[in-house]
Amino acid sequence: MCRQCNDSAHNPEEQSLLKERRHMLMAGAAMAAAPLLAAASPNAGAAPANAASAAPGGGGSKNAPGSGPGSGPYLARAWGVAGAGSAFAPLQIRRRALQPNDVLLEILYCGVCHSDIHTARDEWHAVMPTTYPSVPGHEVIGRVAAVGSAVSKFKVGDIGGVGCMVNSCLKCEACEGDREQNCAEGATFTYNSPDPTLGGATYGGYSDKMVVPQHFVIRIPPGADLAATAPLLCAGVTTFSPMQHWNLKSGQRVGVIGLGGLGHIAVKLAVARKAEVTVFSTTPGKLADARRLGAKEAVLWSDAEAMKRLARHFDLLISTVPQAYPMQQFINLLKLDATLVNVGAMDNLQGINGMGLVFGRNSVAGSVIGGIAETQEVIDFCTARGIKADIEMIRPDQIDMAYERVMKKDVRYRFVIDMAANKQRNI
Ligand SMILES: [Zn+2]
Ligand SMILES: [Zn+2]
Repeated sequence: MCRQCNDSAHNPEEQSLLKERRHMLMAGAAMAAAPLLAAASPNAGAAPANAASAAPGGGGSKNAPGSGPGSGPYLARAWGVAGAGSAFAPLQIRRRALQPNDVLLEILYCGVCHSDIHTARDEWHAVMPTTYPSVPGHEVIGRVAAVGSAVSKFKVGDIGGVGCMVNSCLKCEACEGDREQNCAEGATFTYNSPDPTLGGATYGGYSDKMVVPQHFVIRIPPGADLAATAPLLCAGVTTFSPMQHWNLKSGQRVGVIGLGGLGHIAVKLAVARKAEVTVFSTTPGKLADARRLGAKEAVLWSDAEAMKRLARHFDLLISTVPQAYPMQQFINLLKLDATLVNVGAMDNLQGINGMGLVFGRNSVAGSVIGGIAETQEVIDFCTARGIKADIEMIRPDQIDMAYERVMKKDVRYRFVIDMAANKQRNI
């Protein structure tokens, strides 16, 4: 998950745990401390500090909360879960008053990422425990409804996007190098990150409003298909960034492991770079899709003959599978010196054989989303080429159904929530 962790020989289990903990400290904004912080806060209790019900009166702003755009603070309607086993339900949350560099977005669309499911269900408890209520969503497209006094990047009416981060220190080496996701002080992630302004945890895009510093809002160019562009803000940059860093070139061979939300965009991006793409899927029904998306070849993991034929074949492998699985079978497919980049699994990687790595001088690497400049780059790259996610639109009251279908691999390929849909139906 963290590019900065390159420990040498350790007990692999221990090393993996150390890596997770170090990442949490370096880039994860002390997420494990969130419950402790919450417990130490005078606002501790069932409702966090930024839940509307815990903060009557709107925090002393001149504008009453929810009284139209103004300068906030704002009451927002959100969809969240009260606990790991809860269904999604509407709730009211607070968004902070506009600070000089802040933008208020009226959210139009929000993609459903597998990380949302992991967080809503507290499946990353060991490294990123979920603070409830939890409002996920980090593939956000909205219309700018108000701007702070120092905002120059947007004006009211513009379309903006928010991905996985809403703040970072902007002065450390990583931030100065356009790698806010690796901020030494820990980036503030869009949801389930300690909220430095309101306390509690940040709330994501399953809501109708969001306040975000302009630096962390991506310009969405005119002509973009807004709903189908939303998933590019996480899934797009997550797969684009390793192609940039490992310099995937025209004619090179890239393998995409897993054909889901991330994988299907990875295929489109690699094809646009004129790379030769092979998809590895466990779902026979997806092989034809992979070819339709532009892959030269699509292979079932269980196809022993193909796995043998493709030994030492790839310049780059990108693993988009959202959990660990035995990886050695894919490391065998890397050319000499080539790299397998994990962008999907956040748990302990499995089944990597030391001898299998040394004889090819191969690398197993990790990459997490991308910086703000790189996110803007992937949005511009895709809009200019008409690249967008294959989406299925849902209403906010269908999120539970969508999660169940994602778990059954029954989505082609990203659910996107139409945040206005329930308003129109008065739910
Ligand atoms: Zn995501
Ligand atoms: Zn920083």
